[in-house]
Amino acid sequence: NLTPIQENDQQSGLVVVFRDLTAFRHLEELRKDFVANVSHELKTPLTSIVGFTETLLDGARTDPDTCKEFLQIIYKEGLRLQRLVADLLDLSKIESKQVPIKMDIVSVQMVVHDVVETLIEQMQAKNLRLLTDVAPLMVKMDTDCVRQILMNLLANAMNYTPIGGKVTVKVKQDDPYWIVQVMDTGIGIPEKDQPRIFERFYRVDKARSRNSGGTGLGLAIVKHLVELQHGEIEVESTVGKGSVFTVRFPLEYSEV
Ligand code: ADP
Repeated sequence: NLTPIQENDQQSGLVVVFRDLTAFRHLEELRKDFVANVSHELKTPLTSIVGFTETLLDGARTDPDTCKEFLQIIYKEGLRLQRLVADLLDLSKIESKQVPIKMDIVSVQMVVHDVVETLIEQMQAKNLRLLTDVAPLMVKMDTDCVRQILMNLLANAMNYTPIGGKVTVKVKQDDPYWIVQVMDTGIGIPEKDQPRIFERFYRVDKARSRNSGGTGLGLAIVKHLVELQHGEIEVESTVGKGSVFTVRFPLEYSEV
């Protein structure tokens, strides 16, 4: 009842405070979902590590082939846990703004070249062609951030492109921006999923992502890193044809 209270013929006031809890509840839901997701992501490899180790200890180790096969699974799942924890730490640092941004004037060609070098073997192993078309630009950037953005986008392009496909990195100037594009001739992303792939742990195909060693956090990290440098990221994709990830960074901006 919001009518002012009448007391002994004297008018007194009533202060009513409405606090909008919608945003708070939404954040709380997101936090709970996140904890549930992380627990699930940790549980899957751990179950497999414990299970296969038990079977080895119970006697399976006496057969060399079985022993090797199980140890390879344990190793693979261990690596997955390592990547997951590394990605979680990265994400938590970025989200709590503990990532110092250091802007330097750098040659984009050099940065792209460095990243491509580290991936060339994996590309060849999958018989993928990697093309670069990079303008000779000197721009202000945080080199580590841009490197990680490129690594994650290229890792995805590689993981989601079948054998024999093509991956292209393109960099150009389009005033007032410099633009990085990572394109692939891979499986593509259905339109309904496109707006959600930058969310933590969102995957179009869970099994495929896991098989390729994905943590489900790569694009969430990329989006944060892009925004730390005042950039934007978008995706265009056609199922069965491929995807184009476009990152747009302003050429001029003050240090964060
Ligand atoms: P993941 O570790 O699962 O690759 P990401 O956050 O990097 O996690 O990507 C989220 C999801 O977006 C992936 O699981 C995949 O379904 C989809 N995706 C990302 N990049 C591509 C791509 N280049 N081609 C097709 N699908 C992609």
